[in-house]
Amino acid sequence: MKAVVIHAARDLRVEEREPETPGPGQVEVAIEAGGICGSDLHYYNHGGFGTVRIREPMILGHEIAGTIKAVGAGVSKFTVGNRVAISPSRPCNACDYCLQGQQNHCLNMRFYGSAMPMPHIQGAFRQRLVVENWQCHEVKSGISINEAAFAEPFAVTLHAVARAGSLLGKRILVTGCGPIGALTIIAARVHGAREIVATDVMDAVLKKAEAIGADRTINVASEPERLAGYAANKGTFDVHFEASGNERAIRSGLDVLKPRGVLVQLGLGGDVSIPQNTVVAKEIEVRGTFRFHEEFGLAVDLINRRAVDLKPLLTGCYGLDEVQTAFELAGDRSRSMKVQLSF
Ligand code: ZN
Repeated sequence: MKAVVIHAARDLRVEEREPETPGPGQVEVAIEAGGICGSDLHYYNHGGFGTVRIREPMILGHEIAGTIKAVGAGVSKFTVGNRVAISPSRPCNACDYCLQGQQNHCLNMRFYGSAMPMPHIQGAFRQRLVVENWQCHEVKSGISINEAAFAEPFAVTLHAVARAGSLLGKRILVTGCGPIGALTIIAARVHGAREIVATDVMDAVLKKAEAIGADRTINVASEPERLAGYAANKGTFDVHFEASGNERAIRSGLDVLKPRGVLVQLGLGGDVSIPQNTVVAKEIEVRGTFRFHEEFGLAVDLINRRAVDLKPLLTGCYGLDEVQTAFELAGDRSRSMKVQLSF
């Protein structure tokens, strides 16, 4: 079988790997769609991020869906031919955090396509993948496999919404409208947000944000005063989902959050400085959000029931002979939202 392997920055290869056989409780899935994520792009463009570096060849990818081709002993939930979205979250279910229901903080997490531990955790951009049956969530007929492959990034944003608390009737600010920001808009809407204002520095991205449900969009590069207007009377927004990692976005969000508002930080921008006085005087709560676990099933359920429509976020799907093209496109915000591979 073929797999998409990163060797170093800008050194991405399609290579042969030996397929595996499903053991007890496992299934073999023919992967049919895989979304390229920001972390895949970091490995491709920079060989990693922060202190996490590629130290050995690693298969990329973790936003995946496909069709079951073989089932191992003891699997009764699935049969050959079932279409499934696959959760890349593989906690140990035995450490202290797992036992407290905080699987996303598992001490022994084996999340696909991660160079954090050594040896690296090999990813899922490959033609065949053997997974535990509990990682699989059935995709209903009529739902495309490309939509199903959105379950993973959508679950990230559902977890962010869970970290924020109830959004019912709340006024929401989303800064940064890449795939995660855009999916956050959809996740917030389905959780009862009253008003969603979205910001970015690119008009093409903001147009998409409006199409998928933002009530108002602001280009903070060309018209920052439109956001500043929301700072009147100590602020407007109950919750700020920060998906850009940009220091200026965080600072401007603190200005327009209401007292006791919540800043949910999704974006990774490294070390930034924030105005402590604002956090103190307005009693702002700063909350991080990291990956997901149980939200994956909810993501698939919302997609299956057509409670959300994620299709407008798909820019295109490329075969293994066009892997470089796909990664270049995925890295160009002016031309793409979510790019997927087919296998
Ligand atoms: Zn664990």
